[in-house]
Amino acid sequence: MRFDALPLVDDTPASRPRIERRAVRRTSGGTTFYEVASRTVLDRVPEATGLGIAWAVSPYRGCAHACLYCAGRRGHRYLGLDGERDFGSAIVVRTDVAKRLRAQLASPRWGGETVGIGLNGDCYQEAEEVYQLMPGIVAALRDTGNPFRVMTKSSLILRDAELLAEAAQVAEVEARVSVGFVDDRLRRAVEPGAPSAQKRLELCATLGEKGVPCGVLMAPILPCLTDSEDQLRAAVRRVADAGAVSLTPLVLQLPPGSREWYLRWLSEEHPRLLPRYEELYGDGPHAAADYRARVVGRVAELARLYGIGTRRAPWQPRRTADRQLALL
Ligand code: SF4
Repeated sequence: MRFDALPLVDDTPASRPRIERRAVRRTSGGTTFYEVASRTVLDRVPEATGLGIAWAVSPYRGCAHACLYCAGRRGHRYLGLDGERDFGSAIVVRTDVAKRLRAQLASPRWGGETVGIGLNGDCYQEAEEVYQLMPGIVAALRDTGNPFRVMTKSSLILRDAELLAEAAQVAEVEARVSVGFVDDRLRRAVEPGAPSAQKRLELCATLGEKGVPCGVLMAPILPCLTDSEDQLRAAVRRVADAGAVSLTPLVLQLPPGSREWYLRWLSEEHPRLLPRYEELYGDGPHAAADYRARVVGRVAELARLYGIGTRRAPWQPRRTADRQLALL
């Protein structure tokens, strides 16, 4: 990949995205990268995401996989970018993320909670081939024995399998490959830049073989499109076959930013489903609580039936010398 470096833009005209006021802009092919420095890199994660983690670090904002439903699209708006048009082709890169993370993890104020990686953009998307930020992030977490979860759809994570396996020896570590459904035709429509479900499940199996515990984030489950008994069963069975150590189901969320785009696609491709979506979501981001409980409950039953998570030995921390020092 070749970059055409542009100078730091400090007199951005009003018509240019706000992010350009504090970024170095580089272009490569059809993608624009905005390189930024950050004071802090550990971001709070709202409980409403349902991910069960309170903190996240995001080396990239924006994502080449360009999933229609991605909640990260909203953040692009705050940067003056278009969450619809630019999300897959304008990527914000926190170039100093590993250094900043190491400093924050060493702070006496940090409580050692589990950190999620890859929430606002896949941390192993194509940009990572160039910027290579993840090895530094994983090493910082490993050296402090801090638990973490890496969420990705990309096989580039295999490049760091050895490092992740090392980290898993001293901290509770899990890769989470997201596979919401196994219908490849639907995948091409709503996750246009992402690998097939089959490839992601093979990735899960390979990570397990390499000593990296890998679970599956079954997200999103799309109401009326991927939530039938047959579809849920087929997906859970294949997740079990891949040797996933956990399965976390999440029903589609429609926060502002992704809601408009997803519903526009739905109205074009499946107009007859709009009334049901209206009924389930109203004006809010979450499907009706009873619907979510039913679907999530069914997936949990199927996961038990297929034995997901039962083969994993309980994790025992083995403190490294660096972790001991960090705690002194
Ligand atoms: S892979 Fe994840 S971060 Fe990337 S667009 Fe899809 S949902 Fe968003």
